[in-house]
Amino acid sequence: MTAPAPPVTWPDGRRAAACFTFDVDGESAVLSTHPQAASRMSVMSHQAYGPLVGVPRLLDLLERHSVRATFFVPGFTAHRYPDVVRAIAAAGHEIGHHGYLHEPLIDVEPDAEAAILDRGLDALAEVAGVRPAGYRAPMWELTFHSPALLHERGFQYDSSLMDADHPYLLDVGDGRRTLVEIPVHWALDDWEQYCYIPDIAGTGLMRAPDDMLRTWTAELDAMTDAGGCFVLTNHPFLTGRPARARALDQLIRHAAGRPDLWVTTLADVAAHIASLPDPRPRTITRPDPGAPR
Ligand code: ZN
Repeated sequence: MTAPAPPVTWPDGRRAAACFTFDVDGESAVLSTHPQAASRMSVMSHQAYGPLVGVPRLLDLLERHSVRATFFVPGFTAHRYPDVVRAIAAAGHEIGHHGYLHEPLIDVEPDAEAAILDRGLDALAEVAGVRPAGYRAPMWELTFHSPALLHERGFQYDSSLMDADHPYLLDVGDGRRTLVEIPVHWALDDWEQYCYIPDIAGTGLMRAPDDMLRTWTAELDAMTDAGGCFVLTNHPFLTGRPARARALDQLIRHAAGRPDLWVTTLADVAAHIASLPDPRPRTITRPDPGAPR
């Protein structure tokens, strides 16, 4: 069977792209939905493992493979662990925006969402001197007004949607203003595979790292054949643990060893997509279940 021609072209004749991304949620992902968990010292320590132990281990791993990655950092994490966030930037990795306190955006009004975006931007500028090119909505919950708010603030891309294998230009309103969208998927997120926090998250059924290496390798190879962009989302508090980091190490070795794969940051992918000739932005409309047929 012959694979169909890929819908985008990649630099240097590569067939596909692969990006390793890390959401440095720390305590924020728990506190935004369960503020009373601030008094649960053990739960807080589970989240703190990410910045304290996971990030340094992952930085070492990435350096061994000379791979640059994208780290999405909530403003709260930046304020609580400024040295960790500065170490990520100093190692040459990309830092993206991931809310302030990892706020869920379901039913959040545009003004409130804009205030969260600005608070997160201020924190990353203050702590790491960074103006991020990219955004990932907490819990991947983009709203229909997020793209315009991101464009107004100079973001070049978002990585929260799931309707394609490859990145594309997203129309933010009038066909001339666009944002690059770099799609993700739950199967390529370690949260569903590894996360267990009593009364807060997970089923208690944790996948073995060997399973994830097999699953993610199959996804990487199939996405390469499809000519798309493989985007893995890992959390340092989960994949930063030793056996899981070892499995990730093997996956990155496999990816970096494929000459037909462009292993890079999401910002590099976004810049490439925005530079392609004949860009045709995609318009995504909000479904109206009450509209007459
Ligand atoms: Zn997150």
